[in-house]
Amino acid sequence: MSVLVLGGAGYIGSHAVYQLIDQGEHVVVVDNLETGHREAIHHEATFYEGDIRNVDFLRSVFKKEAIESVIHFAANSLVAESMENPLKYFDNNVYGTQVLLKAMVEHDVKKIVFSSTAATFGEPESVPITELQQTNPTNPYGESKLMMEKLMKWTEKAYGIKYVALRYFNVAGARETAEIGEDHFPETHLIPIILQTALKKRAHVTIFGVDYDTDDGTCIRDYIHVEDLIQAHLLALDYLREGNPSNVFNLGSSQGFSVKQMIETAKEVTGRDIPVKMGPRRSGDPSILIASSEKAKKVLGWTPKRTSVSKIMLDAWKWHSSHQDGYKKEVKK
Ligand code: UDP
Repeated sequence: MSVLVLGGAGYIGSHAVYQLIDQGEHVVVVDNLETGHREAIHHEATFYEGDIRNVDFLRSVFKKEAIESVIHFAANSLVAESMENPLKYFDNNVYGTQVLLKAMVEHDVKKIVFSSTAATFGEPESVPITELQQTNPTNPYGESKLMMEKLMKWTEKAYGIKYVALRYFNVAGARETAEIGEDHFPETHLIPIILQTALKKRAHVTIFGVDYDTDDGTCIRDYIHVEDLIQAHLLALDYLREGNPSNVFNLGSSQGFSVKQMIETAKEVTGRDIPVKMGPRRSGDPSILIASSEKAKKVLGWTPKRTSVSKIMLDAWKWHSSHQDGYKKEVKK
Protein backbone atom coordinates (compact mmCIF):
# COMPACT_ATOMS: atom_id res chain seq x y z
CA MET A 1 0.00 0.00 0.00
CA SER A 2 1.15 3.55 -0.72
CA VAL A 3 0.88 7.03 0.68
CA LEU A 4 -0.23 9.46 -2.03
CA VAL A 5 1.51 12.82 -1.66
CA LEU A 6 -0.15 15.59 -3.65
CA GLY A 7 2.25 18.44 -4.25
CA GLY A 8 5.23 16.18 -3.53
CA ALA A 9 7.51 18.21 -5.82
CA GLY A 10 6.98 21.40 -3.84
CA TYR A 11 9.03 22.81 -1.00
CA ILE A 12 7.12 21.26 1.90
CA GLY A 13 5.78 18.22 0.02
CA SER A 14 9.24 17.14 -1.14
CA HIS A 15 10.46 17.13 2.47
CA ALA A 16 7.49 14.92 3.39
CA VAL A 17 8.33 12.46 0.61
CA TYR A 18 11.95 12.18 1.79
CA GLN A 19 10.90 11.52 5.41
CA LEU A 20 8.21 9.01 4.39
CA ILE A 21 10.78 7.10 2.33
CA ASP A 22 13.27 7.31 5.24
CA GLN A 23 10.58 5.54 7.28
CA GLY A 24 10.17 2.78 4.72
CA GLU A 25 6.82 3.90 3.23
CA HIS A 26 6.01 3.45 -0.45
CA VAL A 27 5.21 6.87 -1.86
CA VAL A 28 3.24 8.01 -4.91
CA VAL A 29 3.68 11.66 -5.86
CA VAL A 30 1.23 13.77 -7.86
CA ASP A 31 2.29 17.26 -8.89
CA ASN A 32 1.45 19.54 -11.83
CA LEU A 33 4.97 21.07 -11.62
CA GLU A 34 3.46 24.57 -11.78
CA THR A 35 5.47 25.60 -8.73
CA GLY A 36 7.11 22.27 -7.88
CA HIS A 37 10.38 20.90 -9.29
CA ARG A 38 10.93 17.52 -10.88
CA GLU A 39 14.43 17.50 -9.32
CA ALA A 40 12.89 17.74 -5.83
CA ILE A 41 11.07 14.40 -6.19
CA HIS A 42 12.79 11.53 -4.42
CA HIS A 43 13.98 8.95 -6.96
CA GLU A 44 12.26 6.11 -5.09
CA ALA A 45 8.81 7.73 -5.33
CA THR A 46 6.43 6.87 -8.19
CA PHE A 47 5.62 10.13 -9.92
CA TYR A 48 2.52 11.17 -11.90
CA GLU A 49 2.55 14.61 -13.49
CA GLY A 50 -0.91 16.15 -13.54
CA ASP A 51 -3.39 18.49 -11.95
CA ILE A 52 -5.66 17.54 -9.04
CA ARG A 53 -8.52 19.47 -10.68
CA ASN A 54 -8.50 16.88 -13.48
CA VAL A 55 -10.77 14.17 -12.10
CA ASP A 56 -9.98 11.64 -14.84
CA PHE A 57 -6.27 12.02 -14.17
CA LEU A 58 -6.76 11.58 -10.41
CA ARG A 59 -9.03 8.58 -10.92
CA SER A 60 -6.37 6.95 -13.10
CA VAL A 61 -3.78 7.34 -10.31
CA PHE A 62 -6.12 5.83 -7.70
CA LYS A 63 -6.89 3.01 -10.12
CA LYS A 64 -3.26 2.15 -10.86
CA GLU A 65 -1.90 2.49 -7.32
CA ALA A 66 -2.99 0.89 -4.05
CA ILE A 67 -3.48 4.11 -2.09
CA GLU A 68 -3.86 3.69 1.66
CA SER A 69 -3.78 7.34 2.71
CA VAL A 70 -3.28 10.84 1.32
CA ILE A 71 -1.10 13.77 2.36
CA HIS A 72 -2.29 16.86 0.52
CA PHE A 73 0.08 19.80 -0.06
CA ALA A 74 -1.02 20.77 -3.58
CA ALA A 75 -2.12 24.39 -3.27
CA ASN A 76 -1.26 28.00 -3.97
CA SER A 77 -0.03 29.71 -0.83
CA LEU A 78 0.86 33.38 -1.34
CA VAL A 79 -1.07 35.97 0.65
CA ALA A 80 -0.36 38.91 -1.68
CA GLU A 81 -1.16 36.96 -4.85
CA SER A 82 -4.41 35.75 -3.30
CA MET A 83 -5.47 39.36 -2.65
CA GLU A 84 -5.00 40.16 -6.35
CA ASN A 85 -6.29 36.89 -7.77
CA PRO A 86 -8.69 35.31 -5.27
CA LEU A 87 -10.42 33.10 -7.83
CA LYS A 88 -7.14 31.31 -8.58
CA TYR A 89 -7.06 30.33 -4.90
CA PHE A 90 -10.64 29.13 -4.72
CA ASP A 91 -10.15 27.17 -7.94
CA ASN A 92 -6.89 25.39 -7.13
CA ASN A 93 -7.20 25.07 -3.35
CA VAL A 94 -10.94 24.58 -2.83
CA TYR A 95 -12.13 23.06 -6.09
CA GLY A 96 -8.94 20.96 -6.33
CA THR A 97 -9.63 19.52 -2.88
CA GLN A 98 -13.24 18.87 -3.83
CA VAL A 99 -12.10 16.79 -6.81
CA LEU A 100 -9.59 14.95 -4.64
CA LEU A 101 -12.24 14.08 -2.06
CA LYS A 102 -14.52 12.84 -4.82
CA ALA A 103 -11.77 10.49 -6.07
CA MET A 104 -11.08 9.36 -2.48
CA VAL A 105 -14.77 8.56 -1.95
CA GLU A 106 -14.91 6.59 -5.23
CA HIS A 107 -11.84 4.56 -4.28
CA ASP A 108 -12.72 4.13 -0.62
CA VAL A 109 -9.61 5.89 0.71
CA LYS A 110 -10.44 7.08 4.22
CA LYS A 111 -7.43 8.96 5.60
CA ILE A 112 -6.08 12.39 4.71
CA VAL A 113 -3.57 14.73 6.34
CA PHE A 114 -3.47 18.18 4.75
CA SER A 115 -1.84 21.57 5.01
CA SER A 116 -3.91 24.33 6.47
CA THR A 117 -2.49 27.62 7.71
CA ALA A 118 -2.26 30.16 10.50
CA ALA A 119 -3.86 32.52 7.96
CA THR A 120 -7.21 30.86 8.80
CA PHE A 121 -7.18 32.88 12.05
CA GLY A 122 -6.70 36.34 10.55
CA GLU A 123 -5.82 38.99 13.17
CA PRO A 124 -5.62 36.82 16.32
CA GLU A 125 -7.64 37.63 19.47
CA SER A 126 -4.49 36.93 21.52
CA VAL A 127 -1.16 35.11 21.19
CA PRO A 128 -0.12 32.33 21.41
CA ILE A 129 -2.94 31.14 19.16
CA THR A 130 -4.68 27.94 20.19
CA GLU A 131 -6.92 25.84 17.96
CA LEU A 132 -9.92 27.14 19.91
CA GLN A 133 -9.56 30.72 18.69
CA GLN A 134 -12.04 32.04 16.17
CA THR A 135 -11.14 31.82 12.50
CA ASN A 136 -11.57 35.03 10.55
CA PRO A 137 -9.15 35.13 7.60
CA THR A 138 -7.92 38.52 6.35
CA ASN A 139 -6.98 37.19 2.91
CA PRO A 140 -8.35 34.78 0.27
CA TYR A 141 -5.47 32.34 0.82
CA GLY A 142 -6.51 31.85 4.48
CA GLU A 143 -10.17 31.75 3.44
CA SER A 144 -9.49 29.03 0.84
CA LYS A 145 -7.72 26.89 3.46
CA LEU A 146 -10.58 27.37 5.91
CA MET A 147 -12.98 26.30 3.16
CA MET A 148 -10.84 23.19 2.64
CA GLU A 149 -11.19 22.40 6.35
CA LYS A 150 -14.96 22.76 6.04
CA LEU A 151 -15.07 20.54 2.96
CA MET A 152 -13.28 17.89 5.03
CA LYS A 153 -15.70 18.28 7.94
CA TRP A 154 -18.81 17.64 5.84
CA THR A 155 -17.17 14.94 3.73
CA GLU A 156 -16.29 13.09 6.92
CA LYS A 157 -19.90 13.22 8.10
CA ALA A 158 -21.22 11.88 4.80
CA TYR A 159 -18.52 9.38 3.79
CA GLY A 160 -16.40 8.74 6.88
CA ILE A 161 -13.14 10.15 5.51
CA LYS A 162 -10.99 10.98 8.55
CA TYR A 163 -8.74 14.01 8.32
CA VAL A 164 -6.08 15.92 10.18
CA ALA A 165 -5.74 19.61 9.29
CA LEU A 166 -2.33 21.04 10.16
CA ARG A 167 -2.29 24.81 10.47
CA TYR A 168 1.23 25.86 9.61
CA PHE A 169 2.85 28.99 10.89
CA ASN A 170 5.95 30.18 8.93
CA VAL A 171 7.71 27.15 7.49
CA ALA A 172 11.43 27.60 6.85
CA GLY A 173 14.78 25.80 6.69
CA ALA A 174 15.67 22.77 4.59
CA ARG A 175 16.66 19.13 4.89
CA GLU A 176 19.92 19.09 6.85
CA THR A 177 21.81 17.42 3.97
CA ALA A 178 20.74 20.34 1.69
CA GLU A 179 19.60 17.89 -1.02
CA ILE A 180 16.25 19.68 -1.20
CA GLY A 181 15.13 23.13 -0.10
CA GLU A 182 13.03 26.17 -0.93
CA ASP A 183 12.95 27.38 -4.55
CA HIS A 184 10.05 29.60 -5.63
CA PHE A 185 9.78 31.80 -8.67
CA PRO A 186 9.16 34.59 -8.07
CA GLU A 187 10.42 34.32 -4.50
CA THR A 188 8.26 36.20 -1.99
CA HIS A 189 9.18 34.60 1.35
CA LEU A 190 11.24 36.46 3.89
CA ILE A 191 14.03 33.99 4.69
CA PRO A 192 14.94 33.12 1.07
CA ILE A 193 14.87 36.82 0.19
CA ILE A 194 17.16 37.67 3.11
CA LEU A 195 19.59 34.89 2.14
CA GLN A 196 19.54 35.79 -1.56
CA THR A 197 20.48 39.31 -0.45
CA ALA A 198 23.35 37.89 1.63
CA LEU A 199 24.47 36.08 -1.54
CA LYS A 200 24.29 39.39 -3.47
CA LYS A 201 21.60 38.01 -5.78
CA ARG A 202 19.41 40.89 -4.61
CA ALA A 203 20.46 44.43 -3.76
CA HIS A 204 18.40 44.69 -0.56
CA VAL A 205 15.54 43.31 1.55
CA THR A 206 12.44 45.50 1.68
CA ILE A 207 10.78 45.42 5.10
CA PHE A 208 7.02 45.44 4.55
CA GLY A 209 5.83 47.88 7.19
CA VAL A 210 7.62 49.46 10.16
CA ASP A 211 4.50 50.89 11.80
CA TYR A 212 2.99 47.72 13.27
CA ASP A 213 2.10 47.63 16.95
CA THR A 214 5.16 45.55 17.87
CA ASP A 215 8.38 46.44 19.75
CA ASP A 216 10.37 47.31 16.61
CA GLY A 217 7.37 48.12 14.39
CA THR A 218 7.84 45.10 12.08
CA CYS A 219 5.63 42.01 11.77
CA ILE A 220 6.17 39.12 14.14
CA ARG A 221 5.97 35.53 12.89
CA ASP A 222 6.55 32.07 14.32
CA TYR A 223 9.15 30.24 12.19
CA ILE A 224 9.08 26.44 12.19
CA HIS A 225 11.71 24.14 10.70
CA VAL A 226 10.31 22.20 7.73
CA GLU A 227 11.75 18.92 9.09
CA ASP A 228 9.94 19.35 12.43
CA LEU A 229 6.78 20.29 10.55
CA ILE A 230 6.94 17.09 8.47
CA GLN A 231 7.52 15.01 11.59
CA ALA A 232 4.08 16.17 12.73
CA HIS A 233 2.57 14.92 9.44
CA LEU A 234 3.99 11.45 9.98
CA LEU A 235 2.62 11.44 13.53
CA ALA A 236 -0.76 12.64 12.21
CA LEU A 237 -0.79 9.75 9.74
CA ASP A 238 -0.06 7.27 12.55
CA TYR A 239 -2.80 8.94 14.60
CA LEU A 240 -5.34 8.29 11.83
CA ARG A 241 -4.05 4.77 11.26
CA GLU A 242 -4.71 4.07 14.94
CA GLY A 243 -8.38 4.93 14.34
CA ASN A 244 -8.45 8.30 16.09
CA PRO A 245 -11.01 11.00 15.23
CA SER A 246 -10.47 13.85 12.78
CA ASN A 247 -8.66 16.78 14.29
CA VAL A 248 -6.93 20.11 13.73
CA PHE A 249 -3.53 21.17 15.08
CA ASN A 250 -1.46 24.34 15.03
CA LEU A 251 2.19 23.80 14.12
CA GLY A 252 4.73 26.41 15.12
CA SER A 253 7.73 26.85 17.39
CA SER A 254 5.68 28.96 19.83
CA GLN A 255 8.14 31.86 19.63
CA GLY A 256 7.81 35.10 17.73
CA PHE A 257 10.53 36.87 15.73
CA SER A 258 10.17 40.23 14.03
CA VAL A 259 11.30 40.88 10.46
CA LYS A 260 14.19 42.96 11.83
CA GLN A 261 15.21 40.16 14.22
CA MET A 262 15.25 37.69 11.33
CA ILE A 263 17.57 39.96 9.36
CA GLU A 264 19.88 40.25 12.39
CA THR A 265 19.89 36.46 12.83
CA ALA A 266 20.80 36.02 9.16
CA LYS A 267 23.70 38.47 9.51
CA GLU A 268 25.05 36.44 12.44
CA VAL A 269 24.59 33.06 10.74
CA THR A 270 26.02 34.05 7.35
CA GLY A 271 28.58 36.63 8.49
CA ARG A 272 27.48 38.70 5.48
CA ASP A 273 26.12 42.18 5.01
CA ILE A 274 22.35 42.37 4.33
CA PRO A 275 21.23 45.82 3.08
CA VAL A 276 17.67 46.79 4.06
CA LYS A 277 15.06 49.29 2.80
CA MET A 278 11.86 50.27 4.58
CA GLY A 279 8.66 49.82 2.57
CA PRO A 280 4.90 50.03 3.07
CA ARG A 281 2.81 47.26 4.61
CA ARG A 282 1.93 44.29 2.41
CA SER A 283 -1.81 43.99 2.13
CA GLY A 284 -3.44 41.10 4.00
CA ASP A 285 -0.60 40.69 6.55
CA PRO A 286 -1.65 40.35 10.23
CA SER A 287 0.83 41.99 12.66
CA ILE A 288 1.59 39.05 14.99
CA LEU A 289 1.19 35.31 14.53
CA ILE A 290 2.54 32.96 17.21
CA ALA A 291 1.32 29.39 17.64
CA SER A 292 0.43 27.45 20.68
CA SER A 293 1.43 23.92 19.63
CA GLU A 294 0.59 22.33 22.97
CA LYS A 295 -2.24 20.31 21.46
CA ALA A 296 0.02 18.71 18.81
CA LYS A 297 2.59 17.91 21.49
CA LYS A 298 -0.01 16.37 23.78
CA VAL A 299 -2.22 14.51 21.31
CA LEU A 300 0.27 13.56 18.59
CA GLY A 301 3.33 13.32 20.85
CA TRP A 302 5.09 15.85 18.62
CA THR A 303 8.51 17.03 19.85
CA PRO A 304 9.99 19.66 17.54
CA LYS A 305 13.79 19.49 17.81
CA ARG A 306 14.98 22.35 15.62
CA THR A 307 13.22 25.29 17.25
CA SER A 308 16.21 27.63 17.45
CA VAL A 309 15.83 30.32 14.84
CA SER A 310 19.61 30.22 14.20
CA LYS A 311 19.35 26.51 13.34
CA ILE A 312 16.42 27.21 10.98
CA MET A 313 18.42 30.01 9.33
CA LEU A 314 21.59 27.85 9.16
CA ASP A 315 19.83 24.99 7.35
CA ALA A 316 18.18 27.45 4.96
CA TRP A 317 21.63 29.01 4.37
CA LYS A 318 23.23 25.62 3.62
CA TRP A 319 20.60 25.05 0.91
CA HIS A 320 20.67 28.55 -0.58
CA SER A 321 24.44 28.90 -0.57
CA SER A 322 24.89 25.48 -2.24
CA HIS A 323 22.02 26.01 -4.75
CA GLN A 324 22.28 29.66 -5.66
CA ASP A 325 20.03 29.14 -8.68
CA GLY A 326 17.75 26.73 -6.86
CA TYR A 327 17.12 23.50 -8.75
CA LYS A 328 18.23 25.01 -12.07
CA LYS A 329 21.82 24.00 -11.44
CA GLU A 330 20.71 20.39 -10.98
CA VAL A 331 18.96 20.39 -14.37
CA LYS A 332 22.13 21.41 -16.22
CA LYS A 333 24.16 18.51 -14.76
N1 UDP B 1 8.33 40.24 4.59
C1 UDP B 1 9.09 41.40 4.42
N2 UDP B 1 9.79 41.54 3.25
C2 UDP B 1 9.81 40.59 2.27
C3 UDP B 1 9.06 39.40 2.46
C4 UDP B 1 8.33 39.27 3.64
O1 UDP B 1 9.11 42.29 5.25
O2 UDP B 1 10.47 40.78 1.23
C5 UDP B 1 7.58 40.06 5.84
C6 UDP B 1 6.08 39.85 5.63
O3 UDP B 1 5.41 41.10 5.62
C7 UDP B 1 5.73 39.00 6.85
C8 UDP B 1 6.99 38.20 7.13
O4 UDP B 1 8.04 38.88 6.46
O5 UDP B 1 5.47 39.80 7.97
C9 UDP B 1 6.94 36.77 6.61
O6 UDP B 1 6.49 36.81 5.28
P1 UDP B 1 6.52 35.55 4.32
O7 UDP B 1 6.07 35.99 2.98
O8 UDP B 1 7.85 34.88 4.44
O9 UDP B 1 5.47 34.52 4.97
P2 UDP B 1 3.89 34.69 5.30
O10 UDP B 1 3.84 35.34 6.66
O11 UDP B 1 3.26 35.48 4.22
O12 UDP B 1 3.42 33.28 5.34
